[in-house]
Amino acid sequence: MRPYSGEKLCGRCFCKSIEEKVHATISNYEMFKHDDRIMVAVSGGKDSVTLLHILVKIERDFPKASLSAVSVDEGIRGYRDEAIRIAERNCRKLDVEHMVVSFKGMYGLDMDEIVNKIQQRKEKGLTPCSYCGVLRRRALNTAAREAGADKLATAHSLDDETQTMILNIIHGDPLRIARVKPMLAIIHPKLVRRVKPLCGVLEREIVFYAYLRKIEFHGVPCPYAGAALRNDVRNMLNRMERRHAGTKYTIFRSMERLRPALEGLGKQEELRECEICGEPTVGEICKPCQMLKESHVL
Ligand SMILES: [Zn+2]
Repeated sequence: MRPYSGEKLCGRCFCKSIEEKVHATISNYEMFKHDDRIMVAVSGGKDSVTLLHILVKIERDFPKASLSAVSVDEGIRGYRDEAIRIAERNCRKLDVEHMVVSFKGMYGLDMDEIVNKIQQRKEKGLTPCSYCGVLRRRALNTAAREAGADKLATAHSLDDETQTMILNIIHGDPLRIARVKPMLAIIHPKLVRRVKPLCGVLEREIVFYAYLRKIEFHGVPCPYAGAALRNDVRNMLNRMERRHAGTKYTIFRSMERLRPALEGLGKQEELRECEICGEPTVGEICKPCQMLKESHVL
């Protein structure tokens, strides 16, 4: 993985350099085996649709590997439905099998209903983003496992990864940095291994790539995205990157170098199966079940 050098490249060479960068990340972390069944999480946004386009190109060199896509319909009317249509069109164009799983189908209620319940609650609790993140991660894992996927590829960019690292420090939980990885470890047979092939690519490089390749993506922000701390960290890192090119990359590399030491410090949490749904969890009841219970759904 190389930092963004700012070299002036023509459109075609720029796109090639991004594809090579993704290829290098995949090889460096040995993300895929030659015959893996890879499922790509595609929301319809620029990062995930671009990831799908790049992986389709790379996969052509691996005839025994297979690629499919999954979208999670959280049930956010006027937002996610349009994004899923875009994801669908991209999959059709690339001839990639596409499946959609919904919160409503899996949990019996969608994000619009959850937000309604949150708003009715008197005391302050978790934000819509916290619910959505936990429930979406679970939905993706279940979909990938049931489809028999070996790997679940998500479109986390270099920006996402550095933001999460800084957020862990701000939250006073530096040991969590060890868990922000380009390729997650196998910790339970029910968890499909997650990989992040775009973790070395800047968000703005992804946007350029999508525009140059004329990739259709959904560019509307989620109506429930609030003034999360992540936004402040994003703005701070963007400002730093503008003034000191390469900052995001050096933060990422520094954390990579720290990770082995951090891994030795944290205790390995033993996973068991949730008493309600049977999914892997640290405690007796998993987070999605706790959240649904708190929403007075169960
Ligand atoms: Zn559960």
